[in-house]
Amino acid sequence: MTYTYGPVSSWRYGRSLGVDVTTPPKKCTYNCIYCQLGHTKKHVTSPEEIQDEMPLSDEIISEVEETLNRLDRASVDVLTFSGTGEPTLNPQIGSIVSSIRGTAQDLPIVLLTNASLLPSEAIRKGVLEFDIVTAKFDAGDEDTFKRINRPSKGSFKLHEIKDAIKKLGEEMKGMLALEVMLLRGPRGLTNVKGLPKRALIDGILDISPDLVQLYTPWRPAPVSAVRPVSTKALRSFGAALEQHLSPDKLWIYGVHDARGKTVVWKTRHALEEEILSLLRRRPCRTVDVSYSLGIMPAAAASTLEKLHKSNDITKDEVGTDVFYRAEA
Ligand code: SF4
Repeated sequence: MTYTYGPVSSWRYGRSLGVDVTTPPKKCTYNCIYCQLGHTKKHVTSPEEIQDEMPLSDEIISEVEETLNRLDRASVDVLTFSGTGEPTLNPQIGSIVSSIRGTAQDLPIVLLTNASLLPSEAIRKGVLEFDIVTAKFDAGDEDTFKRINRPSKGSFKLHEIKDAIKKLGEEMKGMLALEVMLLRGPRGLTNVKGLPKRALIDGILDISPDLVQLYTPWRPAPVSAVRPVSTKALRSFGAALEQHLSPDKLWIYGVHDARGKTVVWKTRHALEEEILSLLRRRPCRTVDVSYSLGIMPAAAASTLEKLHKSNDITKDEVGTDVFYRAEA
């Protein structure tokens, strides 16, 4: 499994079959302090810088078709383009979605993007094919934006990105969602207090998306000072938005939860290979692996332990949770 992984158990979208259109090593325009994939290996400003390293569209399309045929469709909720970095760095993303639309049938196709490249009209045009675009938006002022996202050297300007997300919302027929990561970080950094909070709320309201997803980093982060915010802070941020947005436009982590449903496979590849493919894109606990791959927790635990002993994966403890990950 080179281009597909999971389906992962997503609090937002349920059982989500991942499609990786950039592939390891991690390629991104940002190097976010909370990124679950660890540090960015190819920190770039434009798709042109890495166009020779992009996987072939035909190979991606045929693997998505093959994986969907091995799954019981009723046990998958969405197809999600994400993976090891920023998916819009692959300039073929629009044509890939069009090509798999027939095979996906009525499965919604979702894009998770950091939105940095949306100011380009050509890239916005490519993402119009998605049923749901989830754009990351975690700062309303330039200083907080740079401290959280650590964009590559180039011309990334928050106000241009915000305007481009807004424009995309007007252009697309599907749904525009904002993923808003609320956090605390090094040297007093936070977006849930004071001016950064006010600017972030103003930015969200200015974009006026169809949906706002409030989230906090609970998986291992590359910057050790990153901390999740409390449930109280998440709800208080939600309450501030609710004064302007209807409650059905707001999903709060810990309140909305589409996880906990098992995936059913008709045929499968070697278990170790499938687990490695999953852990390259997302650090998981034993229970996450068990749900994603439709296997008993004991089978997940013993295979994870074996992979850990052979140094194919590493273990991180966050609070009482143990996360396994493979190098992306
Ligand atoms: S934009 Fe996404 S993939 Fe890129 S560094 Fe940030 S969290 Fe990671």
